[in-house]
Amino acid sequence: MNQLSASPSQKMTAERRFELLVSGISDYAIYMLDPGGIVTSWNAGAERFKGYRADEIIGHHFSRFYTREDQESGLPQRALDIALEHGKFEAEGWRVRKDGTTFWTSVVIDAIFDTEGEHIGFAKVTRDITERKRAQEALHESEQRFRMLVQGVTDYAIYMLSPTGEVTNWNAGAERIKGYTANEVIGTSFARFHTPEDREAGLPAVALETARKEGRFEREAWRVRKDGSRFWAHVIIDAIRNDDGVLVGFAKITRDITEKKEASEALERANAALFQSQKMEAIGQLTGGIAHDFNNLLSVLSNGLQVLPFDMDNPSSMKIVESMRRAVERGASLTQQLLSFARQQPLKQEKHNLNSLIIGFESVLRRAGNSSIGFNAELAPDLRPVLVDPARFETALLNLVVNARDAMPVGGTITIGTMNVDMAEGQVTGVAAGRYVKVAVADTGSGMTKEVISRAFEPFFTTKEVGKGTGLGLSQVYGFMKQSGGGIAVSSSLGAGTTIDLYLPAIDASADDYENAESSVDKVLVVDDEQDVMDLAAALFRSIGYEVYTANNAKAALEILHRSKDISVLFSDVMMPGMNGIELAEHVRDLRPDIKILLASGYPLPALKTQNKAIDDFVFLNKPYRLSDLAKKLRAP
Ligand code: ADP
Ligand code: MG
Repeated sequence: MNQLSASPSQKMTAERRFELLVSGISDYAIYMLDPGGIVTSWNAGAERFKGYRADEIIGHHFSRFYTREDQESGLPQRALDIALEHGKFEAEGWRVRKDGTTFWTSVVIDAIFDTEGEHIGFAKVTRDITERKRAQEALHESEQRFRMLVQGVTDYAIYMLSPTGEVTNWNAGAERIKGYTANEVIGTSFARFHTPEDREAGLPAVALETARKEGRFEREAWRVRKDGSRFWAHVIIDAIRNDDGVLVGFAKITRDITEKKEASEALERANAALFQSQKMEAIGQLTGGIAHDFNNLLSVLSNGLQVLPFDMDNPSSMKIVESMRRAVERGASLTQQLLSFARQQPLKQEKHNLNSLIIGFESVLRRAGNSSIGFNAELAPDLRPVLVDPARFETALLNLVVNARDAMPVGGTITIGTMNVDMAEGQVTGVAAGRYVKVAVADTGSGMTKEVISRAFEPFFTTKEVGKGTGLGLSQVYGFMKQSGGGIAVSSSLGAGTTIDLYLPAIDASADDYENAESSVDKVLVVDDEQDVMDLAAALFRSIGYEVYTANNAKAALEILHRSKDISVLFSDVMMPGMNGIELAEHVRDLRPDIKILLASGYPLPALKTQNKAIDDFVFLNKPYRLSDLAKKLRAP
């Protein structure tokens, strides 16, 4: 350049100018060889790359630029021969500098002919592409490393798909997670990893289409292993495009997150259970508070009513007072129910065999059903004794049986079963490990939805129409079981019936304290064909500490007496369909002379005497009677 511009006026031949141009180029080594390979010219680039000055190299054979191995293999001469034969030789290769260091070159050798066509030598253009070569090698190496990395990953299935979804490669993780070896899957469609349902729904194609359109597809779903088992997979599909934007395939990464899914589901369940128990606790506290206040109000009302002076002869004032009294009674029973849910009713626990409690209460339970409902008892022999409040236990059973009846409007079967159960930790939610007696009340009725199950124990939750349900049955049972140190579990599904399991902690059969407690309890059998009257009598007996069995006719009464040898008092109505009370009393006297017998009737004694003189042999009580009357007669010899 300098030379060119330094002498602009100098007349220069085109040849000379070209010579100057070539000699000035420093990015390419450009030089000439004679037909024998001797260097005849040299430019700045050649000097820069190879380290020789022109005067050091011109006249020497060009093979000195080659490595020893290339020289020994005759490469320099072969290059010239090829250039001569084909007009041109092109190659890449290592060359040697003057100082012995090597560099990677791209070489072009052109054979040169003069105008007469005579071969006068070779033009040689050499470029130093060491940098490019290094970059390529580095790239290759990093690709190699990356491939090894992907191949070696075992926690993720990483593989590629063709644009149409065939597997094109396969890593160790894919083999581990899906169970196929590379040979088995390469070339086959990735749809085989989907469930039959997903394949039928066309999901594999949708996944690829989404990745193609949006660049990426991500999903959690079930996938199928080679052995047919399923795993919960996290799947990512990325579209891969070349520099021109053409889709060349998909990269697919799949992770087996079955364990993670299971863990998070277990956590969710635990949270739900915790929430449920906290909710019940909170509602319990609230309910207890309200019930106490309410109960106090009722006692004020109730006491007031008893002392209120009113006109006995005025029928309308009698009516008002009567309806007030009934309202107070209803309110009182409501608060008892609430208090029992809130576990604030004192328990009168005694040692009992639940089988005998159930047998004694069976006739009431049967009557709670109706003629289209069958009734079974499956009572386990050798049932462990429990500490339980018998009256509350019977109320609980009755609640469950009434619910079962309501769930079977067109009939069905109620089965009450008992069983000894050794509970492991966590077996039933909310019930500690230990020895229990289980009482299961099963029906074949409508069953409950999940939503109903989750709320069934809440007070006032009912699905029944207004007037039919109070929503206090199960909440009471729940509170009672908790208070008794036991628990309750529901298993039910819509249309498949319901089973409610009660768990009461068993006590040691030989524990003396409880033996004494049991022997001190007197047992009475109350017989009356009128339910309300019977209930009242039963309540009176309970209030003075009796354990009560009930029957609504003489025949049922005899059955109970036959099964339960420890009944000490028979309290029977006189006028009953079938065998009447006097006949029953005579029977029992012959059968079990140790039993104390009380007869009660709304009819005056003289009228009854005309029917059956034998009534004189028994203690007689006129209805309506008061507790004090009853107590007095019981004490009578
Ligand atoms: P109630 O009987 O007054 O409705 P409960 O507390 O006894 O109140 O029961 C609450 C709800 O639980 C019922 O309304 C009903 O939806 C459901 N339920 C209880 N027991 C059963 C059962 N055996 N079969 C079907 N549903 C039941
Ligand atoms: Mg109910």
